[in-house]
Amino acid sequence: MCNAHSPFILSPQKMYLVKNPSFLKKVFPSLLWKVKTKEKELYLTFDDGPHPRITPWVLDVLDQYQAKATFFCVGENVEKYPAVYEEILRRGHTVGNHTQNHLNGWKTPTKEYAENTALCAKSVQSKLFRPPYGKIKTTQIKRLKKDYKIVMWSVISGDFDKKLMPEECLNIVVQNADKGNIVVFHDSEKAEANLQFSLPRVLNHFTQIGWTFKALQ
Ligand SMILES: [Zn+2]
Repeated sequence: MCNAHSPFILSPQKMYLVKNPSFLKKVFPSLLWKVKTKEKELYLTFDDGPHPRITPWVLDVLDQYQAKATFFCVGENVEKYPAVYEEILRRGHTVGNHTQNHLNGWKTPTKEYAENTALCAKSVQSKLFRPPYGKIKTTQIKRLKKDYKIVMWSVISGDFDKKLMPEECLNIVVQNADKGNIVVFHDSEKAEANLQFSLPRVLNHFTQIGWTFKALQ
């Protein structure tokens, strides 16, 4: 069912794409789906933190590989764990806005969505924004793109998916990631088991074959 060799992950509850098809990129050209580069580099991103235990673990693993990354933080978590947020910046990574309360754009009026994003911006100073669940309406894109680079992704690790084995998350990234790709992980409890297995191995695999990891700017 969950075959990591397929670009689709199928589960009874949901279906999502590990790699985004090109039609999505054509429909939403103003969103960032990958970084244009000929270099062997990847852009790891971590959504939904900061978390008091998982985020520091991620920071230590990244340091072991001299990897830089981008953390899309939820405003209310930054308010709860300001020291963890500061540590992300101190270690040389970049941060992005992921709304104050992890709102689903499809279910939220545009005005409220923009206000919630502005609230997050009080604690997360960044020109980067990623919509929670990747769900954002055209009106919201129009509103936010004046102030933000809206960042989507090239590859979803599936770390949050309880139906995926840790090995499958690892295989998804290893088999799909390409030059300049933006890869999604989560520094959150629901993703912890898959993240703890797959992240060090992704870093090790790509480092061994001469790739580097950069933060989005
Ligand atoms: Zn999220």
